Amino acid sequence: MSQFANYINGEWLQGASVNKNINPSDLSDVIGEYAQADAAQADIAIAAAHAAFPAWSTGNIQARSDALDKIGSEILARKEELGRLLSREEGKTLAEGIGEAGRAGNIFKFFAAEVLRIQGQKLASVRPGMDIEITREPVGVVGIIAPWNFPMAIPAWKIAPALAYGNTVVFKPAELVPGSAWAIADIISRSGIPAGVFNLVMGRGSVVGQRFIDDRRVTALTFTGSVSTGNRVAQGCIARMAKFQLEMGGKNPLVVLNDADLNVAVTAAVQGAFFSTGQRCTASSRIIVEKDIYPRFIEAARAQLAGLKIGHALSADTNIGPVVDQSQLDQNLSYIEIGKQEGASLVSGGERIKRDTDGFYMTPALFADCNNDMRISREEIFGPVASVIPADNYEHALQLANDTEFGLSSGICTTSLKHATHFKRHAQAGMVMVNTATAGVDYHVPFGGRKASSYGPREQGAYAAEFYTTVKTSYTAA
Ligand code: NAD
Repeated sequence: MSQFANYINGEWLQGASVNKNINPSDLSDVIGEYAQADAAQADIAIAAAHAAFPAWSTGNIQARSDALDKIGSEILARKEELGRLLSREEGKTLAEGIGEAGRAGNIFKFFAAEVLRIQGQKLASVRPGMDIEITREPVGVVGIIAPWNFPMAIPAWKIAPALAYGNTVVFKPAELVPGSAWAIADIISRSGIPAGVFNLVMGRGSVVGQRFIDDRRVTALTFTGSVSTGNRVAQGCIARMAKFQLEMGGKNPLVVLNDADLNVAVTAAVQGAFFSTGQRCTASSRIIVEKDIYPRFIEAARAQLAGLKIGHALSADTNIGPVVDQSQLDQNLSYIEIGKQEGASLVSGGERIKRDTDGFYMTPALFADCNNDMRISREEIFGPVASVIPADNYEHALQLANDTEFGLSSGICTTSLKHATHFKRHAQAGMVMVNTATAGVDYHVPFGGRKASSYGPREQGAYAAEFYTTVKTSYTAA
């Protein structure tokens, strides 16, 4: 069995224990044994990142840019192989896995260029004989805590800007997806980045992640995951006044108006709700449909779902792979029962199914006749389960769309410029989609939400500088 170590201070170190990485499409396929750090090893990584910070943060920007470019180029050159590994350990389809690996490569390339664009300002003073400069400086050691559902893209969109702006990194991937994290660390280890600047610390959230939260040398924490863990990160960071950024759950609405192109709307709904097995924070889990088009929408969605193939993530004809693990599958199936008990009509799927290999397979579940107060319409399920909610008119649909504790992504399908324009202005979400799925975003523009979905500055694109740098105002008397 292949063994994979942690990468700390430029060396590969065995952990205190190991974690078996199992393929959710085929439970007999063990991808490898991955090191699990204990608290002491997490401390060694934090100390290494702390020691590497002064030289890296003041070092030559061409070297920084070249290293990030090299990482991006290698990821892109190997995206088929890396995408296969990603799909094998996470369960999204091979096409989705390769797409995500390519995106990770592009993110490193984008920030390789951003290194050369770090800007300041020079302003006139209101006092005579004074010069003012406003500059951006790196924050220090950045602790990265990532979820399992985008095992390459999310680490990339945190590691690349952290390094680009001159910070050093301790990175803890989710327990379910150490393979993608290790592959990225392996590429980084050969990029010319000095020892200690980037550290991979695989291990448990409650051990390694908690260490990142508690250690004063970790000056900023970027977290993506559930609301409950995000709360814990926030409390810990506030207690010691550390900078932090949280990206959490969603209950994203897709509004379908009577005047929508039915094909466009059904495709956006089905892809948004169920692709990547519904395991996306931007998934369209609430589909809000105006009354006149409602019956036709349900029929067309049911027909499209019937044509989808659920199977092994690596099979060429699979549209939807397995759920990531047993506990997520149990949670999804329990929500199917909750939906039925609440009086929603299960019009498609929602069943555990068997395939040639033993994996966590279920059919995508579409509930009709839902209302926005049901638990299945309010709580993030994080699986292939969606509620279709009827709306009286556009105003009612908008009100339902905004009636949620979350605010990540919000979509509308309509041919009306008036309604699309109004919706873009009034949707209470960080991202708004018109005539396309709520999931699926570009890598060079801001990503993030409002309300319980996000806290702190946006991720990705040039806006990432807000989190990964701190501003200094200097006054010089002439
Ligand atoms: P999770 O909160 O269970 O875990 C996220 C990370 O936190 C993991 O690395 C985990 O090990 C770590 N962790 C757990 N306990 C910890 C502790 N006590 N201290 C420090 N770290 C700890 O979330 P998950 O199940 O991996 O991911 C699914 C969630 O992520 C969903 O809610 C989803 O909506 C969200 N998500 C959000 C976005 C976004 O950008 N908004 C993107 C992807 C996923």
